Amino acid sequence: MFPVINVFRCDGCGVCVKRCPAQIMGLINGKAAYLQMLCEECGICAEVCPTNGIQFELPRAYGAGEVHEAYQSKR
Ligand code: SF4
Ligand code: SF4
Repeated sequence: MFPVINVFRCDGCGVCVKRCPAQIMGLINGKAAYLQMLCEECGICAEVCPTNGIQFELPRAYGAGEVHEAYQSKR
């Protein structure tokens, strides 16, 4: 499961960049981005985003756009 960044919600605060344990997040033109191939799929970036700008999505094989139930229950 990989995070999906909503660039319209992201305000470029950089919180996710600081908290990503894999240190693979950064800002491009003031918006969050990450290297998916190195992502550890921990979901921390989605949890810490103050604008709810990152969704933690299931892979398409399990249904595009569905938020993982386990993650949803934590919110
Ligand atoms: S924490 Fe959210 S608002 Fe802040 S840079 Fe990351 S995605 Fe953007
Ligand atoms: S899911 Fe974890 S490893 Fe992947 S970008 Fe977010 S914080 Fe970094």
